Amino acid sequence: MDTMLERLINLQKTDEKIVALQREEETIPLELTKQEKEIVILEGQRDEVTSGLDELSKKETELEIQLQEARDQMRRSQSRMLIVKTQREHRAVQREGEIARKRRGELDGEMKELVEQSLGIQEKVDELDQEIQIKTGDLKKTRAKANKKLKSIAGDRGELEKNREVEAGLVDPELMERYQKVFIRHRGQGVVNVTGGVCSGCFMTIPPQLYNQVLAQGNVHQCPNCSRIIYVEEN
Ligand SMILES: [Zn+2]
Repeated sequence: MDTMLERLINLQKTDEKIVALQREEETIPLELTKQEKEIVILEGQRDEVTSGLDELSKKETELEIQLQEARDQMRRSQSRMLIVKTQREHRAVQREGEIARKRRGELDGEMKELVEQSLGIQEKVDELDQEIQIKTGDLKKTRAKANKKLKSIAGDRGELEKNREVEAGLVDPELMERYQKVFIRHRGQGVVNVTGGVCSGCFMTIPPQLYNQVLAQGNVHQCPNCSRIIYVEEN
């Protein structure tokens, strides 16, 4: 086989490895971003639930004030009961006391309900906090792993790029330029094998005359359909 073509095929093998590593480098941060987004969503949910808790806490303070008023009213009625003189006054004070007691009963019920609601919300906040904590831990592990992996990929890629430079220096510049163009257009494939008269890059049948020229190995040829540099593998 044409030595120049052999060199080009070697170069492409190196280039394919480099492209594969570049793709891996691009994919790794995507997983990190995905995990980060999940945490942001959970934090948003927690903030929303927590704001409900603040609202309840305000209501609780208001209720506490009303409860105190009802208790004061009950106490006032009790002390006035001791100094009333007539039956009429007695009934009026008694009635006041009953109203205050009833009010206190209602407020106690409301307060109990409020406390139950708060507990339910607090439980939800705790659940979300726990989930956030787990996911943050996972993210930390993923990040450490990713950094290690990226470092190792960068090392491998650096080695390959050094090799590539040497290999590229051995290829005729004009051919190199042709290869480079198709390599970029076909995302990492610039030179392909022809098997059974078919281009293995685009699967089009190579015209017989051109196929014979490729077989003859005189010059470098390109597929008329996809422009990839073509060669025939020798058995
Ligand atoms: Zn082709």
